[in-house]
Amino acid sequence: MKSAEIREAFLRFFEQQGHSRVASSSLIPADDPTLLFTNAGMNQFKDCFLGLEQRDYTRAASSQKCVRAGGKHNDLENVGYTARHHTFFEMLGNFSFGDYFKRDAINFAWTFLTSKDWMGLNPEKLWVTVYASDDEAYDIWTKEIGVPAERMVRIGDNKGAPYASDNFWAMGDTGPCGPCTEIFYDHGADIWGGPPGSPEEDGDRYIEIWNIVFMQFNRSAAGEMNPLPAPSVDTGMGLERISAVMQGVHANYEIDLFQNLLAAAAEAIGCANDDAASLKVVADHIRSCSFLIADGVLPSNEGRGYVLRRIIRRACRHGNKLGASGLFFHRIVAALVAEMGAAFPELKSQQAHIERVLKSEEEQFAKTLEQGLKILEQDLAGLQGKEIPGELVFKLYDTFGFPMDLTGDIARERGLTLDEAGFETAMQAQRERARSASQFGLDYNSLVKVDAETRFEGYEQTAGSGRII
Ligand code: ATP
Ligand code: MG
Ligand code: MG
Ligand code: MG
Repeated sequence: MKSAEIREAFLRFFEQQGHSRVASSSLIPADDPTLLFTNAGMNQFKDCFLGLEQRDYTRAASSQKCVRAGGKHNDLENVGYTARHHTFFEMLGNFSFGDYFKRDAINFAWTFLTSKDWMGLNPEKLWVTVYASDDEAYDIWTKEIGVPAERMVRIGDNKGAPYASDNFWAMGDTGPCGPCTEIFYDHGADIWGGPPGSPEEDGDRYIEIWNIVFMQFNRSAAGEMNPLPAPSVDTGMGLERISAVMQGVHANYEIDLFQNLLAAAAEAIGCANDDAASLKVVADHIRSCSFLIADGVLPSNEGRGYVLRRIIRRACRHGNKLGASGLFFHRIVAALVAEMGAAFPELKSQQAHIERVLKSEEEQFAKTLEQGLKILEQDLAGLQGKEIPGELVFKLYDTFGFPMDLTGDIARERGLTLDEAGFETAMQAQRERARSASQFGLDYNSLVKVDAETRFEGYEQTAGSGRII
């Protein structure tokens, strides 16, 4: 099954179970200052869970655009290194707003995954985790569904490692949350990794495909857990991960959609379409960057725009590493539109805009990328120890436009670490200098208004107007 067919099957299955099909919301969360980018299907329904908003349905299903490249759920560092993490992905989800709860949610998921009419997966390949103290969910899985105890794992809330399983789900530090139960797929003994809850779980043998959250609390900024008006359900299944399972491949990059993107990336760069991690990074990043721009984000030096800029620059660096001699990134957009434009018309309608934005950002960074890399090489040649000094990280940032995570990416490839504290100190010192410079009585800069909205409107309008723009 193609990924587009799996998306459609999921939505159809849940429609048959009385769910309304709801379109994906924007990657820029509406009126939610707690969230950098939409990171889960439930975001657009946050107020429904909290009881602040009533809609004309209590069951919904969607395929939601998600970006996890900052904030609480940040997978940027994983991309290219794991088989399963992207900066942009689609999350299939079904939701109950005070309607059904644990029993139905578990039954729906199991039926969709294992019924011959739907995904028809072999139940013996599936492992299930539940929240450590959730006997109710454990009993539904073992006694009603019939999952044997050997493939059931109880897991608590993990407050440590970035990958390790955590069976208490929260979209952010505040907001709706609750215990969850997760379904994993065993990709086979020839891949390294252990079952959830084991010391080797970070491997990619057992891959989490579906998270079913029993939404029960609203966490306040002070950390209090206030019960929601009604127990609810929020689920999320990565379309790329279930597609890999259905297409009999291991990594998300092997699915239909990514095969075409990888080929397009290799062509744009002018390199071999092999298994290189850098090519995967580029194929991954073209999706998050294009979708973010389509949803209105522009590269800038702060907030969401800076995250976008970081992702674009990271893609440029990986292209450069693969030998790209010119601008390449914007040239992959057409392939993405061909793959995903039917499901997401905003990509198609904004193709020219996306290409323009990416191209100009590429042009800008190309001027300093080579030079910065040269400086880095020179300094690394004389490096004592395993840590890149904060001063150098700062110089690359300040003079050559290297975001810290980009330098961190290079460091990791060579088994080095970054002196992050030293970077912060250098950054702070620069802020101090800027502050003291602005303490003169007359700040010339305050007379010059330059904001992001200022556009050149032609000589006729500005000439002789006397305005400082
Ligand atoms: P993992 O443990 O693999 O990092 P997660 O527990 O962080 O995943 P959830 O927050 O539970 O993921 O999200 C629900 C589902 O979304 C996951 O089960 C998975 O199928 C998918 N998913 C999560 N993060 C990513 C990602 N970065 N790229 C692709 N799919 C993802
Ligand atoms: Mg994760
Ligand atoms: Mg997980
Ligand atoms: Mg999870």
